[in-house]
Amino acid sequence: MKKSSLAIVYHRQPYEEVAVDGGVEFRPNRSPNGIVPTLKSLFNGIEAGRGAWIAWKIFEPSVGVDFDRVVHINDVNGGFTVSRLPLTADQVESFYHVTSKEALWPILHSFPQAFQYDNVDWETFREVNRLFAEATAEQLADDGVAWIHDYNLWLVPGFLRELKPDARIAFFHHTPFPAADVFNILPWRKEIMESLLACDQVGFHIPRYTKNFAEAAQALCGAMIDQTARVSEALSPIGQALSEPEVPTRLDHGGHQVHLSTAPVGTDPNGIQRVLETPESEDLQRRLVEEMGGRRLMVAVGRTDYTKGMIESLLAFERLLERRPELIGEIKLLVTSVRAASTMTVYETTQREIEALVGRINGRFSRFEWTPVVLFSQAIPFEQLLAHYRVADICLTTPLRDGLNLVAKEYIAANFGRTGVLVLSEFAGCAVELPDALLINPNSHRSMDKALDRALDMSVDEARERMVKMNKVIHDADVNHWREQILREFARLRRPMPRPLAASE
Ligand code: UDP
Repeated sequence: MKKSSLAIVYHRQPYEEVAVDGGVEFRPNRSPNGIVPTLKSLFNGIEAGRGAWIAWKIFEPSVGVDFDRVVHINDVNGGFTVSRLPLTADQVESFYHVTSKEALWPILHSFPQAFQYDNVDWETFREVNRLFAEATAEQLADDGVAWIHDYNLWLVPGFLRELKPDARIAFFHHTPFPAADVFNILPWRKEIMESLLACDQVGFHIPRYTKNFAEAAQALCGAMIDQTARVSEALSPIGQALSEPEVPTRLDHGGHQVHLSTAPVGTDPNGIQRVLETPESEDLQRRLVEEMGGRRLMVAVGRTDYTKGMIESLLAFERLLERRPELIGEIKLLVTSVRAASTMTVYETTQREIEALVGRINGRFSRFEWTPVVLFSQAIPFEQLLAHYRVADICLTTPLRDGLNLVAKEYIAANFGRTGVLVLSEFAGCAVELPDALLINPNSHRSMDKALDRALDMSVDEARERMVKMNKVIHDADVNHWREQILREFARLRRPMPRPLAASE
């Protein structure tokens, strides 16, 4: 069998395993959001059967129930293989929940005070990354493209380069990349950086992260920035917290060229619109409007994470009810703070703080027939969430730091033709694409308070105008645009990508 021309290396499997009649069926992920469907769609452009996906699956040798390491999937993206790297629960706990989430995640988000080092077993992190590289090398053609995703696989490029010297290796960060002052807190900084510099391409959402990476690479490993470009108008608003007028586009590391890619992930606004026009969604929207009974609705949506600024949103809402008592009984805040699957102390603390705050606000302001805050700790299914976005007057998206933030873009997509107002943190990556949002600094009470007042008092004309402009942005930079940019970038890496098959071939 031919080896793969494109291997996507991502920790999650690209389908759901469903038990049917004593067997297992592989079904596409039910949820239409998230990055997985977009990544899979890259298999469309290559010869059938020559795509590979590498993920992990928990396996306990002592329990002895074995599974197929490599399975073949046939879906709308054509046929591709999925390698499931067997990892024990202990390996996953150490490499993912401890090292990645407790040590690397806070540094990536410039939260050095949350950095926890004591439980890190770097040897296990290295070992799991090596296993990922081996599983990738097994599938990948010698000159194929490996596309590796996210910081928990930071060491894969280095190992893979040893196994496949001629492969084209690309990496994409779905998170921010911090300034060198913060990145250098990681004791493993040089090893991580050397691995990333073994890539042919390293990618980020926005210019600031690319620049931070290039500067750290220069300082830590002597890489030279040998090409820069002016940032396109669409990504370079002047004077915002994450603005950058210029971005490095190539590094030279001892004669090896590393292309730097800056490509914010998009949403699928047409798909979102289609969901909202289904009878089920229209029915739900009608019911929500009825239940609100003329009151105003704010939404704040995200995972439970100290970076997401949910506590800041709740405190701002509490101050709003104090400042403007006429709103008591007249406005509701819907918060989804989706509880993390693992029992990490840091997330449990954040969850408890959110619950306590919601309890306090509800205790202070509730009336018999009205509760100011509704909290969901379980995810609202995406299709239903879209209906909530569409009927919400205001979306509060106030992360202290966020790689991109898809919720903001989804809210805009769901508000086509409407006058919803997006209150958006300047520290969310997508803020550089969305200067027409009401931008706030979540570290400043004054900034948050002013923005909430403006959002509530904004004229319909102004809200409509802003929403139209933001809708244009997210349509122009939708997920297909992102995919096309990535494919163009792969094609220019050392050897040409295999020619996409024309429909008639
Ligand atoms: N989401 C959802 N239901 C919820 C809360 C969130 O489906 O109750 C989805 C949301 O629509 C978005 C994703 O989870 O697509 C969160 O992505 P984002 O980039 O905002 O944050 P991340 O969790 O990746 O940091």
